[in-house]
Amino acid sequence: MDNSELWQSVLAQMQLFISKANFATWFQNTEITSKENGKIVISVPNAFSKEWLNNKYYKLILKTMHDIDNTIKELEFKINPQPSKNFETKEKLESDINIEQLKFDEFKINKETNLNPRYTFENFVVGGFNELAHAAALAVSENPGHTYNPLFIYGGVGLGKTHLMQSIGNKIASNNKKNKVKYIPSEKLVSNIVSAIRSNSMESFKASFTPIDVLIIDDIQFISGKNKSQEEFFHVFNSLYEKNKQIILSSDRPPNAISELEERLKSRFGGGMTIDVSLPDYETRLVILKTKLQEKNMELPEDILEYIASNVKKNIRDLEGALNSLLIYHKINNNVLNLEVAKKLLRGFVFSPFDVANYKKIIETVAKFYNLDEKNLFDQTRRKEIVRPRQIAMFLLRKELKYSFPAIARKFGGKDHTTVIYAYKKILQESEENNKLTEELNLIKQKVYSG
Ligand code: ADP
Ligand code: MG
Repeated sequence: MDNSELWQSVLAQMQLFISKANFATWFQNTEITSKENGKIVISVPNAFSKEWLNNKYYKLILKTMHDIDNTIKELEFKINPQPSKNFETKEKLESDINIEQLKFDEFKINKETNLNPRYTFENFVVGGFNELAHAAALAVSENPGHTYNPLFIYGGVGLGKTHLMQSIGNKIASNNKKNKVKYIPSEKLVSNIVSAIRSNSMESFKASFTPIDVLIIDDIQFISGKNKSQEEFFHVFNSLYEKNKQIILSSDRPPNAISELEERLKSRFGGGMTIDVSLPDYETRLVILKTKLQEKNMELPEDILEYIASNVKKNIRDLEGALNSLLIYHKINNNVLNLEVAKKLLRGFVFSPFDVANYKKIIETVAKFYNLDEKNLFDQTRRKEIVRPRQIAMFLLRKELKYSFPAIARKFGGKDHTTVIYAYKKILQESEENNKLTEELNLIKQKVYSG
């Protein structure tokens, strides 16, 4: 790959991370002018760009380049006011690529409902990993308020929760224009509650929910620890529920595993249908890729699709991201994409240092999941709320990282390694018998691997 190809593929990937307007502002008239001893020099048109790129995008650009070529270690931005030949590339980028077609169209979000029309049942791929959630979602969309209320969907990042919930909303809204649907991410809900408290307008805030027939709150786990918001939301929830209005919630974990959530909310959230989405298998990943291509009316060689499906396994968001970055490259370079180039371009998706489980991540994730400080896991105590997470941490170190039992024992303050063996066997055996534990282990693993 020469410098210009390298820069083009960086630009293609940057477009996935930043808005079109920012992209045009900061990457206009930039190019690689030299590459020596792991150092890349990028020319930029003015001091302003230089400062901005250095401060804001240095790491992202470096990581993207490093993923393509791991000899690259350092970047330097140099001011070069001459419009360069790269101008042509830029023009080409802007005119040829219909970014809107490749990417999410943020501008089409319905102002009334906050729903994105792109999320529908028609373009939602169903497989063993999500078929129950899909069936429940369909049932709710056909008979809102009366089938499952609330519908609570949980699972790791990028597995289709938002897509599924919004599909329900879109379907209900289109079935009957009179249905009032509202989609609210929970951060937004919390910030609205906070400002209603500040401005003394809680009554009118609550009243704004009265006409709603279907309320969708995404990522409700963020309400954890926000006591005031929990209290107000409890009332909103109840008044809708009592009128048989449909409530749909999503979270990264089941209601009873959300820490610092009032008991009464846990029981309300879990009082309808609680259902998970997990990871798609290879076959389904391939179907998802083909569905996305069809939607965009584009094509890629089969071997490349198979390569993506067998290597990008973390979640569907990444699967889509990988596909998009290849498509952009494919277009810029006049359809000369082969498997070798694709492999290079996808390094960041296939192998990223962040994807790999390590000791620190396992400890961090287990502690966080059970709402403990990391150091608690190492406390010399037999308290059940510590012993259990500690055993799970030991189990995962063995299972995921293949640590030896004595090595684990050393990490946990020189315990006898038979204690570790005992912990490992206990968790292994229990996970075979106990669904709740299996579910917890899966959620922890998803987090460990999803960065
Ligand atoms: P989550 O809310 O679980 O983090 P999203 O719903 O945002 O995940 O999904 C991430 C991306 O993957 C979205 O672009 C979505 O359209 C796509 N996606 C997820 N699940 C599916 C599916 N089953 N079929 C097609 N696309 C999917
Ligand atoms: Mg989501």
